[in-house]
Amino acid sequence: MTDLQALFERAAQEAADFRASLDGRPVQAPADKAEVRSRLAVPLPAGPRDPSEVVEQLIDAAQPGLMGTPGPRYFGFVIGGALPAASAADILAVGWDQCAFNGHLAPAAAAAEEVAGGWLKDLLGLPESVGVGFVTGAQAANTVGLAAARHHLLRQVGWDVERSGLAGAPRLRALAGAERHATIDRSLRLLGLGSDALEAVTVDAQGAIDTDDLRRVLSAGSTGEDRPSVVCLQAGNVNTGAVDDLRTAITVAHDHGAWVHVDGAFGLWAAASPSLRHLVDGVELADSWGCDGHKWLNVPYDSGFAFCSRPDVQTAAMSYTASYLTGSGAEPGAADYTAESSRRARGFAVWAAVQELGRQGIADLIDRCCDHARRFADALSAAGLEVVNDVVLNQVLVGFGGQGAEADRRTDAVIARIQQDGTAWMGGTTWRGRRLMRIAVSNHLTTTADIDVSVEAVLRAARGLTD
Ligand SMILES: *Cc1c(COP(=O)(O)O)cnc(C)c1O
Repeated sequence: MTDLQALFERAAQEAADFRASLDGRPVQAPADKAEVRSRLAVPLPAGPRDPSEVVEQLIDAAQPGLMGTPGPRYFGFVIGGALPAASAADILAVGWDQCAFNGHLAPAAAAAEEVAGGWLKDLLGLPESVGVGFVTGAQAANTVGLAAARHHLLRQVGWDVERSGLAGAPRLRALAGAERHATIDRSLRLLGLGSDALEAVTVDAQGAIDTDDLRRVLSAGSTGEDRPSVVCLQAGNVNTGAVDDLRTAITVAHDHGAWVHVDGAFGLWAAASPSLRHLVDGVELADSWGCDGHKWLNVPYDSGFAFCSRPDVQTAAMSYTASYLTGSGAEPGAADYTAESSRRARGFAVWAAVQELGRQGIADLIDRCCDHARRFADALSAAGLEVVNDVVLNQVLVGFGGQGAEADRRTDAVIARIQQDGTAWMGGTTWRGRRLMRIAVSNHLTTTADIDVSVEAVLRAARGLTD
């Protein structure tokens, strides 16, 4: 066995051991950042070292600071898991070290993105003609979608934003629900539209956009002729899981000539489940979409998708050429659909995830997570806790009694206890002025038994504080 083989096998073995340990080890990492930092902060060596020693030292130092995020009882943020074949495919992507700029530089990487991209459109109910770029996550995907919007809307009024920039350009309007994801604001900032361009539209009790208010805000802005507008909709509110009424909202927006971008980081996956597809009814009518692979598809970090109804608009907004880029130009390459040039070969892991689960397996994964969320909600409310949201997807918001500063403090204390306990990991959120515990179920490994022991852990933590 060569040294490289031994080294790779050691790394793969360590990764597999870590995964195998997840069910039994505390979800919260035993060591905090400061501790791991002090272990990693060895002197910068004067010269080369033995690679296997370096790897052993890294494993030793990093291990105690690893979170159980890929494990079955991590319910913080919306984190997803990592499917076996998808994880192995990502190990290959690193080992193969391909630069997925285009099909000339990396034929296999580009082909995998093309094929997997086709399957994604099929699974997510998007038209076959849609353009797709593989990106780091929904943040990047939102940026690509909104860049396409900016290109298209300004082009329509005779302004070439790629050439002329925004100085002197007609001002675009950006409308989004009051409970949009904060990445929308950052994307608008990065694109030079500024957060002041954002006009917040009222949302309903669950945080979904109020389509009457959307109509009102769009109309209020029209002075004879509508100003070019982009409307950002959401499939999957990070707190409640609520999905906007996409069909109505898109129709209203299109009546006003607006571009519609849907942030569907995790919620777009409802489309892959026959029993939940109704939640995203009409999603195919939008103009661009952002979605994650690393959340609900359970592809390892990082993996996201930027879709655009018009590939020509997407590439007009994103691509560039240079004299040394032989093989590009004739046909847009992978990087022409994203904001990156040199890119990790993300297509292999997505290809593997979709093959590993198949259409039915993906539908089952989505359904199962939602069933688990329901089970959490039922058990916690049966125990007297307050479930604050309508559990329509995989998100559950839990209150620990009362409102105000004292209740907020108690909620944070319960959450801290749960995290210390190590059985499960839930995070906190402030929603409608109130501290709440937030549960997101998005991992293929999670079983009903995991939900039941996690409910026990929550009740234990809550009791410990009220006794
Ligand atoms: C997670 C999330 C994002 C950001 O996605 P990243 O994968 O972190 O880039 C955007 N929107 C929503 C609704 C999300 O849940």
